[in-house]
Amino acid sequence: MDLNDNQEEATFREEVQSFIKSEAPTAKKGISGEEALVANWEVNQAWFKKMAKKGWIAPAWPEEYGGAGLSTMQQFVLNEEMALNRVPRPMHLIIGLGMAGPTIIVHGTEEQKKEHLPGMIAGEDIWCQGYSESEAGSDLASLQTKAVRDGDDYIINGQKIWTTLAHMAKKMILLARTDPDAPKHKGITYFIMDMKSPGVTVQPLMNMADTHEFNEVFFDNVRVPKENVIGEENRGWYSAMTTLDFERSAIGSTIGMKQSIESLIDFAREHVGDHTSALKKNRMLRYELADRMIEVEMARMLSYRVVSLQSRGMIPNYEASMMKLYNTEMNQRIARTGQHVLGLYGQLGRGSHLAPNEGRNCYTYLRSVAYTIEGGTSEVQRNIVAQRGLGLPRD
Ligand SMILES: Cc1cc2nc3c(=O)[nH]c(=O)nc-3n(C[C@H](O)[C@H](O)[C@H](O)COP(=O)(O)OP(=O)(O)OC[C@H]3O[C@@H](n4cnc5c(N)ncnc54)[C@H](O)[C@@H]3O)c2cc1C
Repeated sequence: MDLNDNQEEATFREEVQSFIKSEAPTAKKGISGEEALVANWEVNQAWFKKMAKKGWIAPAWPEEYGGAGLSTMQQFVLNEEMALNRVPRPMHLIIGLGMAGPTIIVHGTEEQKKEHLPGMIAGEDIWCQGYSESEAGSDLASLQTKAVRDGDDYIINGQKIWTTLAHMAKKMILLARTDPDAPKHKGITYFIMDMKSPGVTVQPLMNMADTHEFNEVFFDNVRVPKENVIGEENRGWYSAMTTLDFERSAIGSTIGMKQSIESLIDFAREHVGDHTSALKKNRMLRYELADRMIEVEMARMLSYRVVSLQSRGMIPNYEASMMKLYNTEMNQRIARTGQHVLGLYGQLGRGSHLAPNEGRNCYTYLRSVAYTIEGGTSEVQRNIVAQRGLGLPRD
């Protein structure tokens, strides 16, 4: 097994490194994820525009649609270097670039591609995903939001929940029921909705980390033109299942988590003798930190497995679920270890001058809970691994 770059990958890595060195804003040590994004919005937007010009904002998209058409390995190198250099990543664009765009590329008409893809690829349009409802999450096909044909439009009534970025989004990918009598997977249609349409109401929901990421969205007789149906009426379920790789290997999050552990280790070393140190009181903490470091190395290997499958033209299936499950639960263990290292001070959030690491650990601890729910819960991922990976019967 050779994990080194070949000549082509090494050359590409140098190109990425020099682009980052000359163009990327410098991020604060230890800041990553959503925090890095919002910390300096204007500067980050300028950086994302520069990435967009190179096509690197959608590295896996075909060049004809404005992507970079990178190979799996080049995409991996790009993501790895961005994470290693702690540069801000355009996470607010991920529903457009990682879900809506690829679905339009595969199932959309030429007119739909012309209308919707350029704003995504320019790094300008924020999209949101209107799938989940209060009674339809893991069992998404139970959704009840209705779309009824009326002339050249559909009229939408119903409600979505947990809609990330709906308060900032220009457009939504929306699943609605068009045939209430069909078996539940077969009566669903996939729409694109303009978030400024009359009858759309967005109400904020605060998460337990006290940030505003997601929302409830209500539809009261909202008109959506028939041209905004992606694929065929009643076959939206199959379009909804389409995603292309934005970053399937998750190498970026693995590196980010390794950096979090390193910063905890630095903190433990620096404060070993003072009042913020829990190391003196709990000598087992060094074992805990060692365990987290071993786990993050295992997560890296899972990433390599996924990227190796992809680079051989295979589609990761239960392997992607293994990685999502392992990474998100590991993230929670890292956050918990962070609390053990910082002791009671770890509970202080932003705004307290006594909070170590500017209160980041407190935020990470609270936010890490949601990662095991969003994008399919841990139980759902375990079901996939058990059935498709281990060949066990359905529950
Ligand atoms: C931070 C965050 C952002 C989100 N953003 C969006 C978004 O932008 N758009 C959107 O549409 N949705 C979004 N969601 C919703 C997310 O997709 C759902 O929360 C998720 O699919 C789980 O659905 P649920 O909350 O209805 O829980 P439920 O499906 O009701 O599950 C409740 C519990 O039962 C378990 N369970 C359910 N079914 C099974 C089963 N078959 N076997 C074993 N256990 C089971 C679950 O694991 C869970 O523990 C977001 C969620 C979060 C937390």
